[in-house]
Amino acid sequence: MVISRFINGFPIGHDGKLHIIKIPSIIVVGEKAIEKVSDVASKLGAERALLVTGSTTWRIAGRIVRDLLEGEGIRVFTHYVNKASMSYVKPAISFYYANGGFDIVVGVGGGKNLDVGKVIAKETGSLFISVPTTPSHDGIASPFASLIERKGKYSMVATTPIAVIADTEIIAKAPKRFFKAGIGDVIANINAVEDWKLARDVVGEYYGEYAANLSLLSALHLMKNLSDLISDEIKATRTLIEALISSGIAMGIAGSSRPGSGSEHLISHALDGLAAKPALHGEQCALGTIMMLYYRGSDKLLEVYDFLMNVGMPLKALNSAFPLKK
Ligand SMILES: [Zn+2]
Repeated sequence: MVISRFINGFPIGHDGKLHIIKIPSIIVVGEKAIEKVSDVASKLGAERALLVTGSTTWRIAGRIVRDLLEGEGIRVFTHYVNKASMSYVKPAISFYYANGGFDIVVGVGGGKNLDVGKVIAKETGSLFISVPTTPSHDGIASPFASLIERKGKYSMVATTPIAVIADTEIIAKAPKRFFKAGIGDVIANINAVEDWKLARDVVGEYYGEYAANLSLLSALHLMKNLSDLISDEIKATRTLIEALISSGIAMGIAGSSRPGSGSEHLISHALDGLAAKPALHGEQCALGTIMMLYYRGSDKLLEVYDFLMNVGMPLKALNSAFPLKK
């Protein structure tokens, strides 16, 4: 099966006999990494930047990024986002055509700012720099964006970040719930890869073993470092960010979200549509992972369940429906 999707005019994934991969070229992870944003943007040739941020993330990191970019002589336009929706993409595109454009989009924040930023970059043919302030999802380094419209949540190919700047000092201060969500989004890979194999076996879909193994490695990286995740804030931040980035790269290599998104993600999307107050995306994916590993009779079920319980994942909803016996 051919999966052909385009990023800035280039097909990614599979185009005839070719496998075309687009992944980030610059990844900076560590304390005070944010200080590198201006250097990276300027070496990428940026002269005019669109800063995509929200009101909270503006205070945490957006203002710092603007000052750093301006200090490098880059003209910065700031675009505030409240929701991951096309209603925040369209004004930026109009701005682009009415005001002489911009050559780089810098997304600062959690999910919605990065998602909207990626789509704006795609629509304007600009480069995209991802500056995450929370470790809550694997879109940090992936080419995919999730948008919410009236018809519900959907995922689209946007653009691969050319650079990811992950400041662990800033990310470590994110609410603990966001850490659990990030862990859930990575652990989902264990089920997603099984679904991917099923798609290969049942409908002959392309399956990439390298991307699948990299995706599983991201989840194993977390499970192997359980003690750091629960007791060492700095190591936990770095470990989780590494796992989220490599998970996003696995999707970039596959050219599809298959390595990191399967039936457990569909359960999360369904909860978003049905629940009066949905939980965080990754929390719901963790719940979906346990449900689907249970249904498919996976031998990994109890190990994954124990790990999630140890990191404090909210799984109460499973108690009555899923009597997990040891
Ligand atoms: Zn996800």
